[in-house]
This record gives sequence, structure tokens and C-alpha cells, in this order.
Amino acid sequence: MPHFDNFINGTFVPSSSSAVIENRNPATGELICTVPDSSPEDVAAAIGSAASAQKDWAKLPAIQRARLLRDIAARIRRNVEDLARVITEEQGKVLDLARVEVAFTADYFDYMAEWARRIEGEILESDRRGETILLFRQPIGLIGGILPWNFPFFLIARKAGPALVTGNTIVIKPSEETPHNAARFCQLLAEIGAPPGVINVVHGRGATAGHALASSPKIGMISFTGSVETGSRIMAAAAVNITKVNLELGGKAPAIVMADADIDAAVTAIKASRVINSGQVCNCAERVYVHRRVASEFTEKLAAAMSQTRFGNPLGAAPVDYGPLINESGFRKVDALVQSAVAQGATLVTGGKRAPLEGGFYYQPTVLADCRQDMDIIRREVFGPVSPIVAIDDLDQAIAFANDSDYGLTSSIYTRDLNTALRACQEIRFGETYINRENFEAMQGFHAGVRKSGIGGADGKHGLYEFTQTHIVYLQRA
Ligand code: NAD
Repeated sequence: MPHFDNFINGTFVPSSSSAVIENRNPATGELICTVPDSSPEDVAAAIGSAASAQKDWAKLPAIQRARLLRDIAARIRRNVEDLARVITEEQGKVLDLARVEVAFTADYFDYMAEWARRIEGEILESDRRGETILLFRQPIGLIGGILPWNFPFFLIARKAGPALVTGNTIVIKPSEETPHNAARFCQLLAEIGAPPGVINVVHGRGATAGHALASSPKIGMISFTGSVETGSRIMAAAAVNITKVNLELGGKAPAIVMADADIDAAVTAIKASRVINSGQVCNCAERVYVHRRVASEFTEKLAAAMSQTRFGNPLGAAPVDYGPLINESGFRKVDALVQSAVAQGATLVTGGKRAPLEGGFYYQPTVLADCRQDMDIIRREVFGPVSPIVAIDDLDQAIAFANDSDYGLTSSIYTRDLNTALRACQEIRFGETYINRENFEAMQGFHAGVRKSGIGGADGKHGLYEFTQTHIVYLQRA
């Protein structure tokens, strides 16, 4: 059975703890590999390595730092098939999606490398004679990156790409559900001879290794992607040292379908968004508000499309559209929310059960009609292939319902009327809005949530600058 140690200072280092975490295939339950259940001492060693590397790393011209990102991208591209299988095996997404994730990760490193010659400060007009005011963008120093399991490989790039090109070094803690892809990433770093200490990876559990990272006074920023509950814990741990936090948290994306929409196009997009990665995506359409005039047509067509969806072991013989849920607790949460919706008066149109397949936790593609705004299924993140539908009377009601949520990451609206789309854009309070389509976001955009969906954001210029610290200099001529 392969065992992968932590990657610290450019080499694989055994943990100070003998405890291990077992990584299992969610489709079969088979053991894939083990990684250390790291101790706070292991995290301290990784932080020490990142600290020793940071000053020299920051002194390099950005274009030289970018060379590492380009080398990583090139090495990833040489290993797409292998990496995609690793991701599918431990996370359960279909191979085609895993291939897209790997290719996107390589492109993302290249994209962040392109910023090397574009990082800009500012020169400001002074109120004083003979003075120049300069605003520099400095690295923050040490970044702690804490990752979820749903796009585990891409999230490495989303943290490390902007961190490294701006002169920071990083300690990454992958999810304990998906450590294998991160271990393979470390092997690629070793193969290309990445400078020691610039990227360190410590495996382990959230409450121990994750907490040690978030509560370290040496970390300049914790960049976290995961659930709202964990985000809140990380903020509390970081608060002790007033450490900056960048939080990409959960979502409950509303999809608004107006009466004038292209219903077939809306059904296709919403269904695809609902089943991709088994519905385990932060910006999937998690609740549908459909105009009463087209509610039955939309519901029938969505139920037909959902019920034709194929699912099963993504590495099995038959082609599938989605795989298992990540684990039993994910399955229980999905099922409990579906059952509570039915108990609260929703109509089960299709699905609503665990699928009778060997091995993993597969949930049937599910459509629930007659949902109401006060139901748990409309208020809480489901993270499964389940589409609850609420009928609405007009745009005002749809916008009010959409905004009435703890979450504020992604939203979408389907309409042919430009005024309707514009009004939605102006009044909907979300970090992201898609008109006549669903996810995914672009790397040059800015993926950010309002309310409990997060603080700060990722991607593009604004995401890059999250990893910098301003320094303002007042230069008075003598
Ligand atoms: P999670 O919050 O359970 O775990 C995420 C990471 O946090 C893991 O590495 C875990 O070990 C660590 N962790 C747990 N407790 C910790 C603690 N006390 N201190 C420090 N670290 C701790 O989330 P998950 O189940 O891996 O991912 C699913 C969630 O992520 C969903 O809510 C989803 O919406 C969200 N997500 C958001 C985005 C986004 O861009 N906004 C992207 C992907 C996933």
C-alpha cells in the first residue's frame, strides 16, 4: 500500500506522528494510499521551511518566479491521464471532468505566471510640495492554504499560483478525503526541482493540522476553501493573531427562470449544473425559482432530463454522468434534506433515494416541486444531485427569495429580456451572476461570495492582489 509523507523543504519527510489517514475510493471503498495524520509539530516544520525560503524567493524578479509556475504547468500537462485517474479514484468525479480539472489547473498556473510583468503599484499626487507618494505591492510573506475535496487539484493552483508569483511561499493542507492528488503534485515538484521550501504540503485532519496552520502567528494569510462552519472556525483561530483570512465558502445558488426564457436551454444548463461532480460544486444551481406560468413545463422537462442521467462507478465499464457522493456523511446530509422537504410538503417528482449500487453512496437524480422559501432544502446547502423548485409570481419575488439566504456566492437568471436581466444584475446581492447559463467561472474573473459565502475572493487581478500587502512610501525631496 503506497504511503505518502509530507513534502517539506523540497523533500518527502516522515511525520513526527505514527498515525495515518486512510484514503479510500468512494466508489468501491478500496484503500488507495495512506498519508500522515500530521501533528502540529509537522505543521511547524513546514512553516519553518516556508519562512526560510521566503526572503530569497521574494527577491527574485517576478518573471523568474513565474518560471516555476510555467514549469509546473508543463509537467502537469505531461501527466494529464495519470493525474485525472488519481482524482477520479479518490474523489469520484467522472474521468472527463477530472481531465478538465487537470488541464484547467495547468492553464491556471500559466495564467498566474502571465501576471509577473503586470503586477503594478501606484504613484499618487501629493498635497505637499516636492513630495512623491508611492504605493508598492509587497508579498504578504507566508500563506496557509487549506483545501476542500471537491476540486482538490485545481485548488492547489488557485492558492499556490497567485501566492508564488507575488513573492510569497506557501504551506498547503489538502483535504483528508483527497490527499493522493496532492502527493502526486509534490512528486511533480520534486521532478522539476522546485526551489525547496517554496511550496510545502502537510497532510492531516482539520482540527489538528488545519488548526495549527490557521492559528500560527507566522502565517500572513490563510486562504481557505470549504464549508461555512469550518470557515468560521478558521476565522476564530486566525483572529488570535489578527491573521488575514481569504475565505471561499459554501453556496446555495438560486437559478431564476422567467416566463420568457428559452425553457429547453434553461433545463439543459440547470440539469448539467445539478449533476456535475454529483452536485458537489459550490456554484451549482442549488434552488430553482421558476415563473408560475412555465413551472409545470419546466418541472416536467427537468425531471425527464434528470431521470435519464446515468450514474455509477466512474472507473467502471459503463459510461456514467456522475459518480458517488464523497462519503457516508455527505450522503446522509443529502438524504435528510430530501426527506425533510417531503415531510414539509414538497412533491417528489423523481429520485429521492439511495441508488441500489454496490460500493459507494450514490444518490438518485432528484427533482422536488412545490418547495417553499422556508424549507430546509431551500435554505441549506445540499451538495448532491437534487433540484428543489419554487414557483414564483414575478421578478420582484424571485429576487427577494434569492437574496433571502445566508449564502451569496453564485446566482443565475434565464430570460430573453435585457431589462429583466439588467434589473436582476442590479438588485441581486451575490458575488457572481450568470445570465442564461450556469457555472463555471473564468480564471480572469473574480470568484467571491457575499454574506456567509466568504471574505475576499479568487482569480483575476483582484484575486492576485489578495496575496499582496500594500506599502505606501512618502518620498519628500530634501
Ligand atoms: P470542510 O470545511 O469540511 O473542509 C475543508 C478543509 O478544512 C479540509 O482540508 C479540512 O481538513 C479543513 N478543516 C476542517 N476543520 C478545520 C479546522 N477547525 N481548522 C482548520 N482546517 C479545518 O469542506 P469540504 O467538505 O472539504 O468541502 C465542501 C465545502 O466547500 C462546501 O461547503 C462547498 O460549497 C465549499 N466549497 C467552496 C468553494 C468556493 O470557491 N467558494 C469551492 C469548493 C468548495
